[in-house]
Formats: sequence, C-alpha cells, structure tokens
Amino acid sequence: MSVAENIAHFQEELRGTNCKLIAVSKTQPNEAILEAYEAGQRIFGENKVQELTAKYEALPKDIEWHLIGHLQTNKVKYVAPFVHTIQSVDSLKLLQEINKQAQKHNRVQNCLLQIYIAEEESKFGLDQQEAIALLASEEFKSLLNIQITGVMGIATNTSSETQLRKEFRTLKKCFEDLKVKYFFDSDHFKEISMGMSSDFKLAIEEGSTMVRVGSSIFGARNYSK
Ligand SMILES: *Cc1c(COP(=O)(O)O)cnc(C)c1O
Repeated sequence: MSVAENIAHFQEELRGTNCKLIAVSKTQPNEAILEAYEAGQRIFGENKVQELTAKYEALPKDIEWHLIGHLQTNKVKYVAPFVHTIQSVDSLKLLQEINKQAQKHNRVQNCLLQIYIAEEESKFGLDQQEAIALLASEEFKSLLNIQITGVMGIATNTSSETQLRKEFRTLKKCFEDLKVKYFFDSDHFKEISMGMSSDFKLAIEEGSTMVRVGSSIFGARNYSK
C-alpha cells in the first residue's frame, strides 16, 4: 500500500477515538513525508535533532513536529525555535535548558515526561518516583516557559499481549497519579503517548492519546542511506 493509503487507513482506525496519529518519519525522505502531508497528515515525529531541523526547514511550515528521541542538552537550542512537543524529557537538567531556550524565543514549550515502562535495560526515561521528585521540586516550579502536556512511554519489544498491556496500564496509571497530584487544575496535562506500529491497537484500548507509527505508514526503514 502507498503512504497515502496507509494514512487513510490510520485515519479510519482512529476515527471516533481520543487518539492522534504521530507519523514517525525518521530516516524517510522528504518526498514520503510530503505524500503523507498531501493525504492530510500534519503531525510528524523524528528522533534525531539534525534530521528534524533539516526537515523542518525544507517542508511546509504548518507541520507539527514532535521530537521523540533522546535529546542532549547541548542540542536543545536547534529545535527550540519551532518544535511543537518534546516527548522525550527525562531530567530536570534537560527541562531547565529547554526552558532557557524557550524563553529566548518567547515560547512556551510543550513537553512530555518520558516514563520508563519497559523490561529492557537500555531505554531512557524516568520512573514514577523520579517524575514525582522532578514535579515537586522548587526548580521545576520556576520554569515558566515549560508546559508539561503529559507522559510518553516506549514498551518492551515483545509480542506478548499480556506484557504490553501491563506496561501500557503502568503508564496510564502513572499519568493519572501525576494528574491528581500536580495537574488537577490544568487542562493541558492530557496526553499519553504510547503505541507503535506493532502494538498501537492495544495501546489505544489501554487509553493512548498519541500513537507513534513509523513503519506501518512508510514501510521498513533503511538505516544505511
Ligand atoms: C521509531 C520510533 C517509533 C515508531 O516505530 P515503528 O515500529 O516504525 O512504528 C515510535 N516511537 C519511538 C520513540 C521511535 O523511536
């Protein structure tokens, strides 16, 4: 199926749900992104700063760009002028730098806290206690150019439905706990970013509001290019 057909398929899948599609375009050429754009897709996700900024410059300016990969503090300045949401916030130090750069551009930066839900060792993220410590800190309260809009998680790469549901529920529960404790009076804290090509259906059933789908839209990625 073509990229345009895949976008139409996902629009159909998500109709009537509270879930948005983030088209993950990492490693894909601008032509493929434009094909998705022509089919009506406006939200795209990238995981590398350099690739994201190059695509931002080349592509239509009404695209909403989400950074979904690990972000180093020294690279925040490159995405600060335009990125819609940074989904991969996993430290106070990173948030402080995002705040500083957002201030320079007179922006309030949307961020998701990346929460560790997988069994695998190597994934980035905070556990719930660390997220609480961050949100409770005086330093965090002084960051006026940051808007935390929700949480993001990357599930274990497994075909076990039981395991995936367990991890998605952990993230949903974390979202609800943080909402009650720190965001009960905020309409902005509403996003649960979870689910990818292989497990988005389960993620939606478990309450996802953003699925991040790459290969099911664009086909397999070619990392050697
Ligand atoms: C690449 C990536 C995705 C999309 O993965 P697919 O399996 O191609 O859908 C989703 N989330 C993150 C954080 C990614 O890096």
